[in-house]
Amino acid sequence: MGTASVSNGGRIRFAGITKKYGELTVVDDINLDIAPGEFFSLLGPSGSGKTTTLMMLAGFAMPDSGQILLDEADISYLSPQQRNLGMVFQNYALFPHMSVLENVMFPLKVRKFSGKECLERAQWAIDLVRLSSFAKRLPKELSGGQQQRVALARAVVFHPRVVLMDEPLGALDKNLRYQMQMEIKELQRKLNMTVVFVTHDQEEAMNMSDRIAIMNNGSIEQLGRPKEVYESPRNVFAAGFLGEANILPYSRLAVDYRQRMGMQDGDHLFIRPERVVLAPLTGTMSQSDSGLTGCIRNVSFLGSIVRYQIGLDDEFSIYADSANLSDMRSFDVGDSVAIGWKQASDIRIINHG
Ligand code: ADP
Repeated sequence: MGTASVSNGGRIRFAGITKKYGELTVVDDINLDIAPGEFFSLLGPSGSGKTTTLMMLAGFAMPDSGQILLDEADISYLSPQQRNLGMVFQNYALFPHMSVLENVMFPLKVRKFSGKECLERAQWAIDLVRLSSFAKRLPKELSGGQQQRVALARAVVFHPRVVLMDEPLGALDKNLRYQMQMEIKELQRKLNMTVVFVTHDQEEAMNMSDRIAIMNNGSIEQLGRPKEVYESPRNVFAAGFLGEANILPYSRLAVDYRQRMGMQDGDHLFIRPERVVLAPLTGTMSQSDSGLTGCIRNVSFLGSIVRYQIGLDDEFSIYADSANLSDMRSFDVGDSVAIGWKQASDIRIINHG
């Protein structure tokens, strides 16, 4: 059947895109290339400009300056319809009085496909999201996850080259969310489409994305593959936003350690909790070449890991995660510990500025 034909994902370029609301610059000169078939996430705190960026790509907001290109064509000022992109929103936006089948056929009817073709293509998309036995139901007769699968089917039924998703899983509980993340990824791979995905959920972004752009105040703080951004954050914001992080200011580190590492005032030492190694502090022995020592302030049992909060003094703590293995060495509240790491690559010095 022709409907199963695979279209290639579109190539997207943001060139110097700026958007203002009144005096406020909410998207500030963004330059960005998204490759065909890429799963690309915009990740950042609330108000950082993610949705505005996506809405400019969708055609629901117009940039004040710059260009948005889709496969080399300037689409900056086209209407949403002319852009022909698929869209999935958090609230599903299904038509409540239409059945699943009618909802999924809708974009095809708008595009003037024949009755037979509408039906065949809609059935293909409904099969794709495994809802064939629910085709006659109304949205209100479906679970949240099923409703979102209808929205997905409706977004891909006309074979768009790009699908935009704005917090599509925000309304689902944690387990279902994870399952839907896998389903969306599978669908994206199967259809080979470009996906631009907005989320404030860092784990979701890491799980799903080929690349992530971390946004803050309308700018991209860092852009890269999840592992790259996680392991080598470029600045304190990126380090703190993606995953758990210990960020130690210069003043917290022993003088000889600072000198050895060539650290300047204003630099930070960055280490993920899972890379922190703790050892009992006994007499003169310290396994930490950082010179850092502390006292266990809290022990959180989180199932697969145990998280220690270690107070360096009354004010400042760092966190260490320990996998919950059978041979794990454990510490109790009040224990004094030396704080270190296995190798130099476990830490990063984040330079000031
Ligand atoms: P995010 O998706 O990262 O939460 P948004 O793109 O929704 O961020 O918003 C970025 C900033 O732009 C916020 O400060 C928000 O209040 C502002 N903003 C968004 N839409 C409008 C609008 N239509 N009018 C005025 N300000 C807006």
